[in-house]
Amino acid sequence: MGLKYKKEQNFSEWYSEVIQKAELADLRYNVKGFLVHRWWSVDIMKRMYEAYRKELDRTGHKETWYPALIPESNLKKESEHAKGFRAEVFWVERAGSSKKKLEEPLVMRPTSETAMYTMYSKWIRSWRDLPFKRYQGCNVWRYESQTRPFLRGREFHWLEAHNVFATKKEAEAQVNQDMQITETVMHKQFGIPFIFFRRPRWDTFPGAEWTYAADTVGLDGKSLQQPSTHMLGQNFSRAFDIKFIDKNEKEAYGWQTCYGPCIWRMIASIISLHGDNKGLVLPFNLAPYQIVIIPILQKGKTAQIKKACKDLTKKLEKENYRVYFDDREEMSPGSKFYEWEIRGVPLRVELGPRDLANKQVMCVARHNSKKTAVKLSEVVKFVKKLEPTVLNFLTKQADELLKENTRSAKTFSDLKKELKKGGFVRVNWCSVREDGESCAERVEKDFSAKVRGLRVDRKEKPTGKCIVCGQKADEVVYIARQY
Ligand SMILES: [Zn+2]
Repeated sequence: MGLKYKKEQNFSEWYSEVIQKAELADLRYNVKGFLVHRWWSVDIMKRMYEAYRKELDRTGHKETWYPALIPESNLKKESEHAKGFRAEVFWVERAGSSKKKLEEPLVMRPTSETAMYTMYSKWIRSWRDLPFKRYQGCNVWRYESQTRPFLRGREFHWLEAHNVFATKKEAEAQVNQDMQITETVMHKQFGIPFIFFRRPRWDTFPGAEWTYAADTVGLDGKSLQQPSTHMLGQNFSRAFDIKFIDKNEKEAYGWQTCYGPCIWRMIASIISLHGDNKGLVLPFNLAPYQIVIIPILQKGKTAQIKKACKDLTKKLEKENYRVYFDDREEMSPGSKFYEWEIRGVPLRVELGPRDLANKQVMCVARHNSKKTAVKLSEVVKFVKKLEPTVLNFLTKQADELLKENTRSAKTFSDLKKELKKGGFVRVNWCSVREDGESCAERVEKDFSAKVRGLRVDRKEKPTGKCIVCGQKADEVVYIARQY
C-alpha cells in the first residue's frame, strides 16, 4: 500500500507510480507513445478543458471542429512549417481490405494550421469578418522518439486557438491576451506558475515570426514547456491566401496568431508540482470526488453509522459538492484511506461509533494531512472554508518552487553548478536573435541545456560579457535543462 518511491529521491519512478496507482492511466497499451486514459484522469481533464473553454469563449473565440487528416498538399503550403513538422508526422497512405494506396498521402494532424487555414481562405472576405477567432479542443499526433505519459506522447490532447486580424497591432494584442488567459486559467485555477519567454530565433514555432512560450519547472528541476503563443504575421495568410477587403476597399492579407494550451501537459504539472509522497493532491475545482466519506463500522452500530454517513452525503451534495460515500465492505478503512490519498481527494471524512455518539466527524485534509474533529452541524461550514485554502496552498507552494529555481550565474563554471541544481539560470548573452546560436550549441553540448529565451514580463539589461564566448553581451537570457 502507499507509495514505494519518494518524490524528492526518485522523481521519475515516483511519477510513474502515481500515474498507475492513482489510476490516471494504464501504461500497458501496445502502441508506443499512445496512452490509455482511465476515468480519474479524464474527469480531471474534462474540468480543465471546461475552465479553458470558458475563458476562450469569454474572450470572443468560437469552438469549431476540424478533421484529423490533412492532405500532404496542405501541409506543404507554408514551407517553414512543412520543414518543421515533416519528420514528426504519421502518414496515412492506404485504406480498405486490399490496402489500396490513397490518391494523396494524408497526415494525421500534428497541429491544425494547415487544416483550418485552407478553410479560412474561403470564409474571410471583408474587414467585417474580422477579427476571426476560432479554436478547437482535440487530440494530435506526433512521431516522437522519447515518450512519457502526459509529457511527451505520440498522441496528446490539447486546445489550439487560431485567430486572424486586420492589423498587426491587433494580432500583437492577441498574444498579450493569450498570456493573460494562461494566467487566468493555468495559474489561478490550476495552480501552475510560469514564466513567458520569447524563444530564440532557432527555437521559434515553424512558420511563426516569433514565439512566446510559458515554461514551468518540471521533473527533476527541468523546465517544462506549457502553452505557447505565436505571432504568425502574414506567413500563413500569404501561403493559404487568407485575404480580405479592408476599409479602404483594398485587398490585404490577414495577420494571424495561434495559441496552444496543452491540457495533457498541464495534468503532468499538476501531478508533479502538487503531488507528494502519498500521491496526487488535487484542488477542489479539479477533483472528481471532492469529499470521500468513510464509515468506521462497529458491530451493533453499523446501521446507525451508515445512516449518518448517508445523511451527511446528501447534505453535502445539496451544497453541490461531489461526494463519494465509500461503503465498500470488502475493504478496511485503512486501505480506503490509502486509495483516496493516492488519488488526491481534497477531503476525507471519517465517521465511527465515537463520532456518532459525539455527533461529530473526523475531517482529514489531503494537502496538509491536518485532522479536525467537526460537529455534524458544522461540516458544511468547515468544507466551505477549506475549499479555497487548498488551491491557495498548492499555488503558493508551486510559486515558491519556481522562484527558488530561478537563479543567476556570472561565469561558465557557475552556470554548470547552477544547472546541476535545476531550474532556470539567468545569464548575460550575446545576441540571441542574431548570431548567438553557436553559444547556444555550446551550452547544449556541454550541459544538455537550452536557451529558453528572454523574459517577456520584464526588460532586463546585461551587466557583463556573454557567459559563453566572453563577447559583449546584449541580452539577458535564461538557460535550463528541459524535459
Ligand atoms: Zn556568446
